[in-house]
Amino acid sequence: MSQTIGFIGLGNMGLPMAEQLLKAGYTVRAFDVSESILQAASELGAIVTRSIGEAAQGASVVVTMLPAGRHVRSVYLEPGGLIETAAPGTLLIDSSTIDVDTSRMVGSAAVDAGLEMIDAPVTGGVMAARIGKLNFIVGGTEASFKRAEAILSVMGKSVLYAGAQGSGIGVKICNNMCLGVSMIAAAETLMLAKRLNLDIKRTYEIINQASGQNWALSNYSPLPDLIDGVPSNNGYKPGFTAGMMRKDLRLAMDAVSSVDASAPMGAQALAVYSLFCANGDAQTDYSGISKLVGGDAWDYPFDPGK
Ligand code: NAD
Repeated sequence: MSQTIGFIGLGNMGLPMAEQLLKAGYTVRAFDVSESILQAASELGAIVTRSIGEAAQGASVVVTMLPAGRHVRSVYLEPGGLIETAAPGTLLIDSSTIDVDTSRMVGSAAVDAGLEMIDAPVTGGVMAARIGKLNFIVGGTEASFKRAEAILSVMGKSVLYAGAQGSGIGVKICNNMCLGVSMIAAAETLMLAKRLNLDIKRTYEIINQASGQNWALSNYSPLPDLIDGVPSNNGYKPGFTAGMMRKDLRLAMDAVSSVDASAPMGAQALAVYSLFCANGDAQTDYSGISKLVGGDAWDYPFDPGK
């Protein structure tokens, strides 16, 4: 008999993740508050359930993929929630992107109740979820990590261990703060080069071999026609939306406050992405931030004779 996995939250990410598990031969017991989503899960072969407790019934592992911390607190901690209803020893895997405090708090409540829990947030979006190529960053005990590895490998191309429970989400938030800041820096740099009438292709090639090189610039160019296969070549169709980047930068700033730290560049990146989203670009790829920082430099032609 195949292993049974409970799956709670089958939205844009959760549904294709559950589909990978079904394709790999797992039995999936699905629960979501949306009826149309449950219908879609049923069409993929999942068993539709009507409550959190029913989804966890007979499952050795339960995966949650929920929008934000408040949904995670509700699904795990409320009466009838996972901590109350999952059988002792069940492994709970939360892949939602949420705040570190909630992740740690829910994790210790689960352990106190005789359950195992890891946080396993992902990088990579819906496209990666559809082909089982997400990247998981895992926090929890090493034993729980080992127990989860085979299941996460079905949905992801990499499964990395970060440390104690809450570390997965902590590392993801730190990474995305770095990414948000460096994407703005890459966009500002290339737009300055345009204003200076520099050959943009040559500028790009040289910086990529110099000390200004960084991941956002090299692998995800915010200006079109410099490298292949990036959203900037495709009208900034996401990819990873600016709205998602704003969410992660907010989580980063929450984390900064929670430890009395200061991150002026992270705060500035949040302000810039918030403005971009407020201008109607929440669904634009986050590299489209070059549209905001570039201003009229977009129209500057390169004149080799000047
Ligand atoms: P989504 O809103 O499409 O899906 C969330 C699902 O959770 C919905 O179907 C909703 O009905 C369900 N839900 C909410 N409350 C519930 C409850 N109490 N019980 C049961 N189901 C409930 O969101 P998404 O895009 O799938 O993202 C999920 C998580 O993954 C988020 O934390 C997001 O930040 C993270 N993430 C998303 C992406 C992306 O590209 N979409 C990439 C990386 C990480």
